[in-house]
Amino acid sequence: MSDILTITSEHVSGILTQDAAPAARCGDGDTVIFETRDCYDDAVVSEERPLGDKADPIENPATGPLYVEGAEPGDVLKVEILDIRLRDWGVMRSSTKCGVFHEDFTERTARIFPIRGGADESDAAGAKGAGSAADGGSAAQYIQFDDRLAIPLDPMIGVIGTAPAGCGITTDTPHRHGGNMDCRRIVKGSVLYLPVNTPGGLLSMGDLHALMGDGEVFICGLEIAGRVTVRVSVVKGGAAAMLPTPFLSCRGRVMTIQSAGTLDEAGDKAAKAMKEFVKKAAGKDNLEAGMLMSLLSDMAVCQVVDPLKTVRVEFPLDVLETYGYRLP
Ligand code: CA
Ligand code: CA
Repeated sequence: MSDILTITSEHVSGILTQDAAPAARCGDGDTVIFETRDCYDDAVVSEERPLGDKADPIENPATGPLYVEGAEPGDVLKVEILDIRLRDWGVMRSSTKCGVFHEDFTERTARIFPIRGGADESDAAGAKGAGSAADGGSAAQYIQFDDRLAIPLDPMIGVIGTAPAGCGITTDTPHRHGGNMDCRRIVKGSVLYLPVNTPGGLLSMGDLHALMGDGEVFICGLEIAGRVTVRVSVVKGGAAAMLPTPFLSCRGRVMTIQSAGTLDEAGDKAAKAMKEFVKKAAGKDNLEAGMLMSLLSDMAVCQVVDPLKTVRVEFPLDVLETYGYRLP
């Protein structure tokens, strides 16, 4: 086993709250592994028993929380996603109540998909050790959907957040603290910036998807347990204050991620948050920032199936760097 601080999947909750006792503590800049259950609480293990084997499963269990020493309210927690390792099978289940197509179904049906190719959980757990995690073979992993179709994976984190300000928020809901954003850009190599609302921040995560399309229209991605390696750092002062959290850097683009009761509302919030950020980062006024947004930003739906809908707005980082901005 590695000597990296690891929070096991015994430490899960269905709510992110300031009242939670930390599962672990780490220093500013430390690397931590979160072992996560799947969104069905690892209870659905066969297609014959789609309701699962647990009497009272936690919906969307999130592993944590992690207390980061030195993180104080008003700071921003920088979470670098160093690696995502997956279990060797994923699961999807139909719903009779949620999702765009729920009226198609009168009962719940589960499909289990073995993960093929690449590195699997057995080498993630021991043989190669965490030191080789950065070489993870997810890019070569795929599922065989049926006799004809093989689908490559793009592993992502569905639920990731700090403790919200005020009351706790269940892990089915995205909000300003992050949570169930189901943003398929939260992948290995991404950097997520989350608000610190309580001392230590209290970071939790779970609900990994081996693959999910924008919208998550069926109600689930390819749901899977796994192991996420992150480096956590505390951003303070003016650098923290200008970040419109939840804020993401992924594959050369920065992204605002906003959730609201409707897609219209979420889209407006995400676009306005990015425009305000562009104004500050590039030193532009409303006119030029608005023009740059219309020319260069892309709006995309993260998900339409959670209690609040989530939209992200992406903007090219190199444009901001042209004006001298550097991400903290
Ligand atoms: Ca989710
Ligand atoms: Ca999910």
